[in-house]
Amino acid sequence: MDSALLLKYDQRVPRYTSYPTAVQFTDTVGEDQHTAWLGEIGGEGPVSLYVHVPFCEVLCWYCGCNTQVGRHQNTFESYTDLVCREIDRVAARLGARPRAAAVHWGGGTPSAIGPARMARIMEKLRQHFDFLPDVEIAVEMDPRVLSPEDIQTLTRDMGVNRTSIGVQDFDAEVQAAVNRVQPYDLVAETVENLRAGGILDLNLDLMYGLPFQARDNFGHSADLAIGLAPERMTLFGYAHVPWMFSHQKLIKENDLPNAEERLILFAEALERLEDAGYVHIGLDHFSKADSEMTIAQREGRLHRNFQGYTTDTAKTLIAFGASAISTLPGGFIQNKSAARDYMNAIKAGGLGTNRGVGLTDEDHLRSHIIERLMCDFHVDLEAVCETFDVPVDHLAGDMAKLDTLVADDLVAVDGWHVDVLPRGRMLVRMACAAFDQYHAPNPDKPAHAKAI
Ligand code: SF4
Repeated sequence: MDSALLLKYDQRVPRYTSYPTAVQFTDTVGEDQHTAWLGEIGGEGPVSLYVHVPFCEVLCWYCGCNTQVGRHQNTFESYTDLVCREIDRVAARLGARPRAAAVHWGGGTPSAIGPARMARIMEKLRQHFDFLPDVEIAVEMDPRVLSPEDIQTLTRDMGVNRTSIGVQDFDAEVQAAVNRVQPYDLVAETVENLRAGGILDLNLDLMYGLPFQARDNFGHSADLAIGLAPERMTLFGYAHVPWMFSHQKLIKENDLPNAEERLILFAEALERLEDAGYVHIGLDHFSKADSEMTIAQREGRLHRNFQGYTTDTAKTLIAFGASAISTLPGGFIQNKSAARDYMNAIKAGGLGTNRGVGLTDEDHLRSHIIERLMCDFHVDLEAVCETFDVPVDHLAGDMAKLDTLVADDLVAVDGWHVDVLPRGRMLVRMACAAFDQYHAPNPDKPAHAKAI
């Protein structure tokens, strides 16, 4: 892709981990609606569960997650109690006792509260949900705060069978510039301990677009990560949005690669990953050729949720903890973001609800189109409209919004078939935006990271 094209499309678009996106959430959806939607969850299909732990020991300056720095055991203890109370309250409102196919722990750093407290929360989940025998239990881990004993508790006592480790970059200068000093040996030792603990599915995150990254040093980091033989890798682009996360101001903009350099970094890592046998999945995931995710992508069964690309097929996601977002039958619900606000709301006897959005039939249609584009880079609009019982002409205006992408050979349109071409793959979100009824960029108040 040439520089002129890059600049043309270097715009701010959602990551489409949901549709409508979180920008559409409002506080007109509150606790009563939350309660009503929980009551609509029946026992038909299994659900997925998510627990958010909003604490970290040290703040990475690139962080775009909901977290706060601290090591106060009292806060951790009371957060654990309150999440357990939230689980009790949510369970009391459910329409049935659901089965759980997956439990995902994210943050923050879940293990910041200590594995014993995590085990208490897990026990509470098991009280109210029937875990399927092959339940997937995944935890995001930080090698800097994870002892071999912690790993034993997580794998042996809690049944954790999947982990994700944030590496980002192994280069010392890059690590120092983002305040995440985590030498290769530490990561390698953690991976070894996780393998010994029985973790069969390991994901490593790399991040491009950080200060001082260049083709050679980032390529070397990719090689080191590949050498650890993870089952999956993710290659995220750093989103520099200091107006949303003020700590990102600690990263000097002059040290950041520009859009063209970001593309080179991505291409460098991509080449090394593909040479090593990883298959590029969706926008930013890579998995081994024989993995479940690669097979799901090939068969059109890949999905996208708040954790990114997933093979999880559960339609309902019940999320607990500060800022956690649930996908319920009627819409999305998000808990209060700040840990203190969330904890106060639970102490006051509530569910911690902050805001949300109800889903219309139109949202379901567009959500499906956007998910297929993000996962398959292809969508047959005629077939989708037939499923949703809508005349396909309904989408004529949206198709017209693809004209520029088509003229630039980034997208191909054949009748009602839309294909994102290989050279347009990094810009798939631009194609999705054509079908997003709510996307109205406001340059004075940007709500999303740039497309590249
Ligand atoms: S460990 Fe993760 S959540 Fe915590 S500060 Fe770093 S990037 Fe943010």
